[in-house]
Amino acid sequence: MIAPKVEDQYRWRVELSCGCVHEIYTRGKDSFPDDRPVIDPVTNQELPEGESWCMADHRTPSPYRMIVEWTSREVKELPPDPEEPQHGLDQATWSKIRCAEPRSRAYWRVKLACGHVHDSVITDADWRPEQGPELVTAERAAEMRSELEKLWELDGDLTASDENERDHWRRMIDLRWPQPSPEVACYTCRHAYRVTGYQRVGWLIPRTRPAAVPKSPKSPDRRRIEAQLSKIEAEAESLRKRLRELDNGAG
Ligand SMILES: [Zn+2]
Ligand SMILES: [Zn+2]
Repeated sequence: MIAPKVEDQYRWRVELSCGCVHEIYTRGKDSFPDDRPVIDPVTNQELPEGESWCMADHRTPSPYRMIVEWTSREVKELPPDPEEPQHGLDQATWSKIRCAEPRSRAYWRVKLACGHVHDSVITDADWRPEQGPELVTAERAAEMRSELEKLWELDGDLTASDENERDHWRRMIDLRWPQPSPEVACYTCRHAYRVTGYQRVGWLIPRTRPAAVPKSPKSPDRRRIEAQLSKIEAEAESLRKRLRELDNGAG
């Protein structure tokens, strides 16, 4: 895309539903801030109509959203998982889920229920959406639940982000741990907010004013008297006409 000239940039104040007010530029004063979709800087995809990007950190966890469309995929080769436990898991749990062999995985671009795009949902290389997710047995799900709840009991105060993760894990266990998961955390939702209003600020580079229109040499007072006079003249003319009509016996 060719960048517009700086002299063509028009400034707006845009208010978002998170409460923040940001200044944005449009090309010229006749294009409005919501004329074109805003681009999500993470996925490079358009945000839904009426949303804009707030760069502030509102300290909300990325909410989990349902996947509504599996859009496209790219297969990548991955090395074996490290032996060191990852994701805060203990050695026993990690060794159960760790993948010791190199493998290929599909990285999917998906569309979420919130309207945003997520770029790295990982599945087996040969998995296709029409197959649906794989489930664990009800017994295994119950086992996972009690293992996790025991582990979580040891933790003290929870942050909003911890709660968000735990709620997700619990929902997934209720569904017998579907793989791939039907929901993913949407980072875009942390930054995309609805535009609630905008206001003109002016040209980025103030325009030179056109030469001032010369003031009418007539003072307001003179104009008022002239108007009064022409009104009286019109009335006089109409009275004269009436008289002529009477003289001619028409009235
Ligand atoms: Zn904000
Ligand atoms: Zn979202």
